[in-house]
Amino acid sequence: MGVNSGSLDKDIAENSVFSHAEKLVASAQKHVAILEKYGFHDIVISLKGSNAIETIEAYRKAAKTFPYPLHLGITEAGPKDIGLIRSAAGLAPLLIEGIGDTIRISLSDEPEEEILAAKRLLHDLDLYERYPTIISCPTCGRTQVNVVPMAKRVLAYLEEHNLNLKVAVMGCVVNGPGEARHADYGLAGGNGTWVLFKKGKLLRTVKEDEAFDALIATIEKDIA
Ligand code: SF4
Repeated sequence: MGVNSGSLDKDIAENSVFSHAEKLVASAQKHVAILEKYGFHDIVISLKGSNAIETIEAYRKAAKTFPYPLHLGITEAGPKDIGLIRSAAGLAPLLIEGIGDTIRISLSDEPEEEILAAKRLLHDLDLYERYPTIISCPTCGRTQVNVVPMAKRVLAYLEEHNLNLKVAVMGCVVNGPGEARHADYGLAGGNGTWVLFKKGKLLRTVKEDEAFDALIATIEKDIA
């Protein structure tokens, strides 16, 4: 049973005392009452707004009001970059509080992007295991290797093989291995080289153009 800003009950929408979140919940209550009147209780409730703060407030109220599962989402969240941030801002506080049974990340983009974003959000909140963790540094004056394409390439490999591993791509050996010591595997940049490490322990130094293959070979050997 879905309510959003565009489908509010007409009388409730015109109520000038209710906040927008209260209108969403009151509108849902009205529709739920109709279903319950006819003995139908197999209900999931969705109260999507396009504003993160209002949506959080609405779902918090709904969690206290209804005995039914809640489907979370920020609707009309925008194109990918904007929609990802808005959805994470709206859904993460609720999920951390234990509110929500299913989610959708709504994006003006390909449907596959929505699935990937949902997996990533749930994984970052420790609610979904089967996804990799990539750790990569923002780069700075110490960086002497090309961190950005390496981080993207490593993530693409981990996602393609659906590996639940924590892998670090760090720009320098000064801070990299230490900062990423909790990673299962990692690369830290040197001067035209990368240092390959595993659980904080240095394995060997490899040339820049061989580093990706060396990392993958190490992972695949361990998996085998
Ligand atoms: S890991 Fe090294 S290169 Fe990357 S941000 Fe930290 S200090 Fe800079």
